Amino acid sequence: MPTGLSSFLHSGLGNRTSLQLLRSLLLHHKQHLTSWESTGLPRETQLRLSGRMNKISPNTMALAPNTSNKKQTVCIFGTGDFGRALGHKMIQAGYPVVFGSRSTQTSSLIPKEAEVLSHAEAAQKAAIIIIAIQRQHYNFLTPLTEILRGKVLVDVSNNLKINQYPESNAEYLAQLVPGAKVVKAFNTVSAWALQSGALDASRQVFVCGDDMEAKQMVTDIVHALGLTPLDQGSLLAAQEIENYPLQLFPMWKFPILLSLGLTTFFFFYSLIRDVIYPYVYEKKDFSFFIAISIPNRICPILALILLALVYLPGVLAAIIQLYRGTKYHRFPDWLDKWMLCRKQLGLVALAFAFVHVLYTLVIPIRSFVRWKISSQIVSQVLNNKTQPLDNTNAWLSDSYLALGILGFFLFVLLGITSLPSVSNNVNWREFRFVQSKLGYLTLILCTAHTMVYGGKWFLNPSSYRWYLPHAYMLSLIVPCTVLVVKCVLIFPCLDKPLRKIRQGWERNPQYSEQSNYIINKSAV
Ligand code: NAP
Repeated sequence: MPTGLSSFLHSGLGNRTSLQLLRSLLLHHKQHLTSWESTGLPRETQLRLSGRMNKISPNTMALAPNTSNKKQTVCIFGTGDFGRALGHKMIQAGYPVVFGSRSTQTSSLIPKEAEVLSHAEAAQKAAIIIIAIQRQHYNFLTPLTEILRGKVLVDVSNNLKINQYPESNAEYLAQLVPGAKVVKAFNTVSAWALQSGALDASRQVFVCGDDMEAKQMVTDIVHALGLTPLDQGSLLAAQEIENYPLQLFPMWKFPILLSLGLTTFFFFYSLIRDVIYPYVYEKKDFSFFIAISIPNRICPILALILLALVYLPGVLAAIIQLYRGTKYHRFPDWLDKWMLCRKQLGLVALAFAFVHVLYTLVIPIRSFVRWKISSQIVSQVLNNKTQPLDNTNAWLSDSYLALGILGFFLFVLLGITSLPSVSNNVNWREFRFVQSKLGYLTLILCTAHTMVYGGKWFLNPSSYRWYLPHAYMLSLIVPCTVLVVKCVLIFPCLDKPLRKIRQGWERNPQYSEQSNYIINKSAV
């Protein structure tokens, strides 16, 4: 039970005002919980983080201070875009705001409810000062050191480049004003989002600082603004927080580069086999294949390989754990990174599958396809001979299409369940069931779809042009490897020890102790 709530109940108050007070306490407590829930983090992490924050400062997390509607004055240094936007939002949330500026003349852009004073005067009016000024101008704070002693300084600054300075801006601020309690916050929220209210995608505010009480004061403001604070620990985390807004799709880099590389390879591979080879040997110009046929060959190949690459690291991790006989030893860095971007790999694979479906839909209206069908009919008419229905072909074609449709349906289902709004609403077991069991089923269906596509021509020597196998045969290598290894891992003689290892059992605890020692030593 929250501290404020329990003390309230023990106080024995029961009149109407007190009941209103109780309702506001409960609402406030609920707000704390729901705000963690809306972070998009896994439930376990949310609970851990909210628990951690509760542990960090039991006093400041208490509900008592919020029972009063009167909010303490907040000072903002700098009347630029960010300072003004934050000022507006704070006034809306009920905070008295005072700006510290080089010029005390107010302008129409500054909220009229706010005072504009000199830096020194404004600082004296508040316990919290938000420094909405670029790092390169922080020097002006040095003469104010005495006035700022004991105050909470909130560093909101960002840089232009990742790791632009040796120390974070927040640490630099702490060095400049040694008596102040510096907290890093708000840097991932944009002035535009604050002003326009378009904060749905960026409600998270990363907070870090060495002083727990100061951090809690900032966290309370973040809550009051309707945002979600995420405690990142001490001021040492500031550099990482400052780098967040500068990162360009960090988790997408590997999947995108990999798909670009594979696309280029399969494009030239198909060009050689399907365009250059017929031109050299049969003097046929199939260069128009570049528009639809070749892309429609590359897309399913990429979709299948990337889907298999989503499951390959899991299989490798299982082999490594079985070999080491413990889970308490770090995977190699490349495997860790690979595991972290599996969702992105899967989504890129889904995008390729989707484009493949679109390309497939236009096949009947292609001029080449219509010409091929009509010339077959004409040749039958000229020869006065109707070709009988080839039952095997009909079976292969229908099974190929059916497997493709089912595979794509499950693929889409996997994509939908990886959306945060959906994955947050399923429990861990349900999520694992969809992503692992249905994921493998999707891989099986898509692999079978490709195999059946090869059909009777799979081992036909004429399909090897310049000794090059058809591109779809290459696409089967990774998925077949993953499926075969997975089948082997399912055998009880391997599955049982693997399960035990994953539950914490160790074949050789000494080995793990040594490795942990090495990890800890390197961390120090
Ligand atoms: P800005 O529009 O350029 O405003 C900066 C303010 O700093 C100026 O209006 C000025 O205020 C003050 N200033 C400028 N030179 C100064 C000097 N030599 N000495 C003292 N004060 C000086 O910049 P901003 O966009 O508001 O950004 C302010 C901070 O917020 C930056 O650190 C930025 O990284 C961070 N931030 C911005 C955004 C955003 O969306 N804009 C988002 C997150 C974080 P006075 O004229 O009132 O003195």
